[in-house]
Amino acid sequence: MKNITIIGAGTMGNGIAHAFAQKEFNVTLVDISSDALERAIKTIEKNLDRMVVKEKITISDKEKTINHISLSTNIKDGTKYANLVVEAATENTDLKLKIFKELDEICDKQTILATNTSSISITDIASATNRPDKVIGMHFMNPVPIMKLVEVIKGKKTSDKVTETIMKLSQDLGKIPVEVNDAPGFVANRILMPMINEAIYTLHEDISSVEGIDTVMMLGMSHPMGPLHLADFIGLDVCLSILEVMHEGFKDIKYKPCPLLCSLVKDGNLGVKSGKGFYDYSNGIRNKQVSDYFKK
Ligand code: NAD
Repeated sequence: MKNITIIGAGTMGNGIAHAFAQKEFNVTLVDISSDALERAIKTIEKNLDRMVVKEKITISDKEKTINHISLSTNIKDGTKYANLVVEAATENTDLKLKIFKELDEICDKQTILATNTSSISITDIASATNRPDKVIGMHFMNPVPIMKLVEVIKGKKTSDKVTETIMKLSQDLGKIPVEVNDAPGFVANRILMPMINEAIYTLHEDISSVEGIDTVMMLGMSHPMGPLHLADFIGLDVCLSILEVMHEGFKDIKYKPCPLLCSLVKDGNLGVKSGKGFYDYSNGIRNKQVSDYFKK
C-alpha cells in the first residue's frame, strides 16, 4: 500500500495528508475547491516549519514530505493509482453517499475506501458501493500530525482482512488504532460531544462566561483545553453535524444541539477555520480573545 488519496483538504484532510506523506506514502489531496488545496499545502508547510524549529525534523525531511504530496481538483485523476482512499469531506450524509458511489465506480476493484467521518454510519456509507467489505472508518483525531489515536470502525460488512490492513497501516503511521463497532458517534464523539454541548448550554443559560467554563474544565478536570476552545478547533459546524447525526440516530433528546450552537453556525461563526467562534482568532490562534458575540 503506497498510494493514498485523501478527499477533502480542510482541517482534517491536510493533517491526514501530512501524516501519510511524512511516512513517505505517495499522497494525492483532492478537493472541489482549489483555494482549499492551496490553504492546505500552506498549512502543512507551516506545521512542518514548526517541527523544523523544534528540531523534530530537518529541512530536508520537510522538503521530502512536501514532495510526496500532489494536489488535484479532479476526483477521477486523483484516485487513478490509489490503493487506499481516505474521505475527509464535509460531515454530511448525502455528500458522503454521493462521494462513495462515485469512488466505487472510478477506483480499482481492490482499492480500500475509508472515511474519516466523526459520526455517520459506516454501514450506510458502505451501502452506496458494491464493495461494502472494503469500506471502513478511519477516524483520525485533530490535529492529525500530533494526535496518536485512530478509531478504526467496522461496518456490518467490513471484512476482517480489511480491518487488519487498516489497523496495521495506522500503526505504520505511528498511530495507536482502537477497533470499534459502528454506532452514531462511535466512541470518541459519543462521549465528547455531549460534554461540549453541555458546556454550550451552560454558557447559553448564563451560568458562567466562555473563559469561566473553559477554566473550570481545565483546572478542575485537568483537560488540556476547555470544551468551548476545543469546539472552536473541531469546527462548530462539524460539532453541530455530529450532534444532529447522534440526535437523529439514537432518537434521544440528550443529543439535541444547544440553540446557541445552532445560531453561531447560522451566523457563520465556525471557530478557528472562520476566525471566530467562542473566541476570536484575528490576533492569531495563540492570542485568542473571547469573541465579541459573548462580551457583556
Ligand atoms: P472542513 O470543513 O474543514 O473541510 C471539508 C473540506 O471538504 C472542504 O475543504 C471542502 O471544500 C471539501 N469538500 C466538500 N465536498 C467535497 C467533495 N465533493 N469532494 C472533495 N472535497 C469536498 O471539515 P473537517 O473538519 O476537515 O472535517 C472533514 C471530515 O472529518 C468530516 O467528516 C468530519 O466529521 C471529520 N472529522 C473532523 C474532525 C475535526 O476536528 N474537525 C475530527 C475528526 C474527524
